[in-house]
Amino acid sequence: MTTDSLTARIDTFWDEHIVPTLVDYIRIPNKSPSFDPDWDANGHMEAVLQLALAWLDEHPLPGAEVHVGRLPGRTPLIVVEVPGELDGTVLMYGHLDKQPEMEGWHEGKGPWIPVMEDGKLYGRGGADDGYALFASVCAVRAMIEEGISRPRIVILIEFSEESGSPDLPAYVEHFKAQVGTPDLVVCLDSGAGDYDRLWSTTSLRGMLGGTLRVEVLRNGVHSGDASGIVPSSFRVIRRLLDRIEDAKTGRVRVEALHVEIPESRRSQAAAVAGSIGEAVGGKYPWIDGMRAMGSEPAEQILARTWRPTISYTGVDGIPAVRNGGNVLRPYTELKLSVRLPPTADADGAAQALRETLEADPPYGAKVTANFRDGAAGWNAPDLAPWLESALEDASNKRFGSSALHMGEGGTIPFMGMLHAGFPEAQFLITGVLGPESNAHGPNEFLHVPYAKKLTACVVDVLEAFGRRKDGASAGG
Ligand SMILES: [Zn+2]
Repeated sequence: MTTDSLTARIDTFWDEHIVPTLVDYIRIPNKSPSFDPDWDANGHMEAVLQLALAWLDEHPLPGAEVHVGRLPGRTPLIVVEVPGELDGTVLMYGHLDKQPEMEGWHEGKGPWIPVMEDGKLYGRGGADDGYALFASVCAVRAMIEEGISRPRIVILIEFSEESGSPDLPAYVEHFKAQVGTPDLVVCLDSGAGDYDRLWSTTSLRGMLGGTLRVEVLRNGVHSGDASGIVPSSFRVIRRLLDRIEDAKTGRVRVEALHVEIPESRRSQAAAVAGSIGEAVGGKYPWIDGMRAMGSEPAEQILARTWRPTISYTGVDGIPAVRNGGNVLRPYTELKLSVRLPPTADADGAAQALRETLEADPPYGAKVTANFRDGAAGWNAPDLAPWLESALEDASNKRFGSSALHMGEGGTIPFMGMLHAGFPEAQFLITGVLGPESNAHGPNEFLHVPYAKKLTACVVDVLEAFGRRKDGASAGG
C-alpha cells in the first residue's frame, strides 16, 4: 500500500468536505419518482439539487462549467464539464435519488438518520449513490492539485436511477454536446466483493418491474360460505406462478429469460470464488439454520449475475395479518421484480412473461399481467490492456492486493444505454457496495475508508488513461 501526498489529500478532503455533506444528504428523504410520485410537490429532490449545487459552488474546479438540466416534467440532472489538457473524454456517472425506507433498521439508526460508527456512515443513499458526485470532484481536484495532467472530464449525475432512469435518454440527447464521445466511462454505483481491493464490474443484470393481478369475485364473501365453490385468488396466482418459476428450485421456467453464459464470465466467477470463497453467500443476514440455493461459490456468483430471478416485492388485496377476517377475498395482486441476464432482451422477456401468465386462466379468472420499467442489462466489452493493467496497479498500490473482476446482480440502466451509444468506450464500473453495506435494505452504510481508497484508485486510473497507448480511441 502506498501512502503518498495524494492519499493524504483525498483523506482530508473526504473528512472535511464530503462526509459532512453526506450527513446532510442522508437526512433528505429524496426518494426516486417510482417511490414518491409527488416528488415535485414534496420538494426533497429540489433540496438535494440545491445541496449539490451549493457544494459545487463551494468546491469549484478551475475552468469547470456546471450545467443543470430541468426539462419539463422530468427529474433534474447535473452535468459538470471539466476541461483537460490531454486528448479524450472521460464520463463519470452517479445518481442522487434514493430507494425507499424499508424496515429493519437497528435501534438508533434509520433511513434519514445519519450515524457514523466504526468508519461506516449509516443512512439511506450515502453509498447508493450519494457519494459519487463528491468523490468524482475529489478525484479531479486531487489531480489538479498534484499537477497530474487530465483528459476532459464530464461528471453526470441523474435523479431517476432507482426508477430505471426514465429521464436519462432525453438528457443524454439534451446534453449531447457536453457529453461528447466518451472514451472511458467511470461509474461509481456498483458493488465490491470485499473491502480489500479494487473491484470492477464485468456485467449487470437487466430488470423488469411487473404486477400480476387475479380477480375472482366482485366483492369479498364469507369464507365458510364460499370456499369449496369459489376458487381462491391466491391459489390461482400460485398456479400461475408455477408456470414462470419452479417453486422447488427457483429456476425461471420461461426460456426467453435465459441466455448462454460466456466462458470468460465463468472463469472470472471461478477466480473470484477461489479468492473470496464462502464470503460470496456468507454476506447476507441469514437466520439460524437457513441454507443458500446453491452451495458452490462460483455457481452462486453466476446465479446472481447471469441467471434470471423473480422476487415478490409487494402485495395488494391481502390485509395485514392482524386485520385478516374469515373472508374469501375478491382478488390478489403481486408486485414482481424480475432480474434478467446481462444480454437478455428486456422487451422480449416482458412479452413472454405476460403471455405465459395470461394464457388460459384457471377457472376463467380475470388475470392481468403488466411488465414495465424494463431496463436492459449490460455485458462489459473486453478490457483494453492499458485499463486492465491500470486496475491491477491501482489495486496493488492502494490496497496491497490484486484487483478482481465480477458481474453484479443489480441493474444500472445507463450502462446499457452508453454501451449502445458509444460502442468503442471502455468502462470502469465499480463502487462501495461491499459486504453488509445493504443498499436498498435496512442499515445501508458507506464504508468511508474504502471509499477514500477507491477515490485514489480512480485518480490512478485517470492518470493511466492519459498515458494509454493501445486501443482504437488512443487519440493523437
Ligand atoms: Zn445506485
